[in-house]
Amino acid sequence: MNSTKTYITTSIPYVNAAPHVGFALELVQADAYARHSRLLGKDIRFQCGTDDKSLKNVRAAEAAGRPVADFVGENADRFEQLGRHLQISNDAFVRTSTDTRHITCVHSLWNACARNGDLYRKNYEGFYCVGCEQFYELTDLDDGRCPEHGIPLETVREEN
Ligand SMILES: [Zn+2]
Repeated sequence: MNSTKTYITTSIPYVNAAPHVGFALELVQADAYARHSRLLGKDIRFQCGTDDKSLKNVRAAEAAGRPVADFVGENADRFEQLGRHLQISNDAFVRTSTDTRHITCVHSLWNACARNGDLYRKNYEGFYCVGCEQFYELTDLDDGRCPEHGIPLETVREEN
């Protein structure tokens, strides 16, 4: 028996829509790996979940004319149900908006940063792709467009 603990996780998808077949494939692949690892006697933790906090989710809810929390909650439920329908053997399903384990960890990390004086406020402005949910440098762009989505980027200003 291998005493090393192995952590297996899927990506944590944004819940701006119902899950698609690509995520079902990811769940099945991760599950096959987890089950195989268990059969080999490995000590694993297999975790799935959803990223409920994103601009993409907010915009999808607004486009649907729905309250964000309701829209996100319903789609997150669909992702969790997909795992159950596929009989995925995950040990945990963590939603970033409601799971107390996640919230406790985030608060702990935040407070540790605050205690060490690592938090400060500063304005930031950059080129943002909502599809990617990330900022890009000018040198990353493909003719001024997102290299992944091929769409023009938004200039986003925010205080962090
Ligand atoms: Zn993009």
